[in-house]
Amino acid sequence: MSFEYAPAPESRAIVDIKPSHGLFINGEFVEPTDGTMFKSVNPATEEVLSEVAAAGPHDVDRAVTAARAAYEKVWGRMPGATRAKYLYRIARIIAERSRELAVLESIDNGKPIRESRDVDIPLASAHFFYYAGWADKLEHAGFGPDPRPLGVAAQVIPWNFPMLMLAWKIAPALAAGNTVVLKPAETTPLTALLFAEICQQAGLPAGVVNIVTGAGETGRALVEHQGVDKVAFTGSTEVGRAIARSVAGTPKRVTLELGGKAANIVFEDAPIDQAIEGIVNGIFFNQGHVCCAGSRLLVQESIAEPVLEALRRRMSQLRVGDPLDKNTDVGAINSAAQLERIRELSEVGAAEGAEAWSPACDLPDRGYWFRPTLFTGVSQAHRIAREEIFGPVLSVLTFRTPAEAVEKANNTPYGLSAGVWTEKGSRILAIADQLRAGVVWANTFNKFDPTSPFGGYKESGYGREGGRHGLEAYLAH
Ligand code: NAP
Ligand code: MG
Repeated sequence: MSFEYAPAPESRAIVDIKPSHGLFINGEFVEPTDGTMFKSVNPATEEVLSEVAAAGPHDVDRAVTAARAAYEKVWGRMPGATRAKYLYRIARIIAERSRELAVLESIDNGKPIRESRDVDIPLASAHFFYYAGWADKLEHAGFGPDPRPLGVAAQVIPWNFPMLMLAWKIAPALAAGNTVVLKPAETTPLTALLFAEICQQAGLPAGVVNIVTGAGETGRALVEHQGVDKVAFTGSTEVGRAIARSVAGTPKRVTLELGGKAANIVFEDAPIDQAIEGIVNGIFFNQGHVCCAGSRLLVQESIAEPVLEALRRRMSQLRVGDPLDKNTDVGAINSAAQLERIRELSEVGAAEGAEAWSPACDLPDRGYWFRPTLFTGVSQAHRIAREEIFGPVLSVLTFRTPAEAVEKANNTPYGLSAGVWTEKGSRILAIADQLRAGVVWANTFNKFDPTSPFGGYKESGYGREGGRHGLEAYLAH
């Protein structure tokens, strides 16, 4: 039996999107030097939301100079307890303005309001609260008696969790006494610009946070700028590699959080209904635009049939459509370019002999959409089993023994996350110990907490964000 849902749209009235946005440099919004602007669109409707300034090298230089001055004159000398007051204030304002931020995030990114409202924005606020608590306790963080900030941090973030990635980057940097220049992704700049207003509202000293919008070239100018002491990047492995090359031989410290191809391993003794929810959350949360997505399902052969049957049934109930509808499970793909990448890899999957299945569901006429998709008959050599698709596409493989599960799970150039589903606690510990993944979830998936370190092995990058560990990337010791 399936239910019909009446539309339950969240109102857009709470956000007031300005038709044009400047760069946030030294505490104020300024025009870009050469006047270049680009557009941010709503991927669910293709409507142009706003024109945003594209920062050129001269603008990046202005931002880095402002950050340097703020570091040397104000922020780097301020007692930790005073920095904490600002961070607590920012955390509170994010919480107070959470509905506005959630609606804006969903409009600019395409993610369901249920997720931006219940996950992205509350977690962003929680990150500021968490790191505010460290600001006056750095000498107890385990990095020596007198850990010092690094200086100016260049931070480049992707489009999949715009506000949350901003919080992951800015909160620990500021808590440790650094100042920042952050570049949001070209397709999702709007919540970062609202965050700039929040910095003003919090009375944050000018230059401590600078936001330079633009495309990849702006990001490159920022990370290559000689005046930055630290580079923090989240995004594709390809760009991550280029950044690693460009900072090699310079004194810059660098952390990279790159892609993933996580195995979600379901053993025959797993609680099946719970596992089905975890598989769905693992790959269809945020349209699968998640670096730690459970994009490879490894299911024990003895239960493969019933699991797949239950999974297809559950996928048939997913509601795909308007991100602002409170009943929507799967929203819009973030951009035409990303939709093209997902289509391309899915076609490769079919051409290589895997079998695709999607539930019947109507898609809106405008915007960028992709049906939740399941591939069976996948072998380890297939590209859809090896490459990050970054979309709502699950590749299913089977295994017979725990040893085979571990071998297949680790057979990837990535190593960001993994999931284990079993009733046996001893098996959870034994398997987790053998998985080469920075995060291993047991009988759950895609759970995030500011106190918990996150990061990868191998081509998934290096360094950790979150928790006490996340401070280390912003401290000299
Ligand atoms: P990307 O190009 O790596 O973008 C990430 C960020 O880096 C964006 O802000 C981007 O700006 C910027 N950037 C691009 N080129 C740069 C350069 N040479 N130097 C410095 N910064 C640069 O990723 P994408 O093109 O958005 O997505 C491509 C693929 O990357 C996806 O299909 C997915 O597989 C993977 N991805 C992974 C994550 C993750 O969380 N690990 C996140 C996003 C994407 P623009 O936005 O203007 O390009
Ligand atoms: Mg957009």
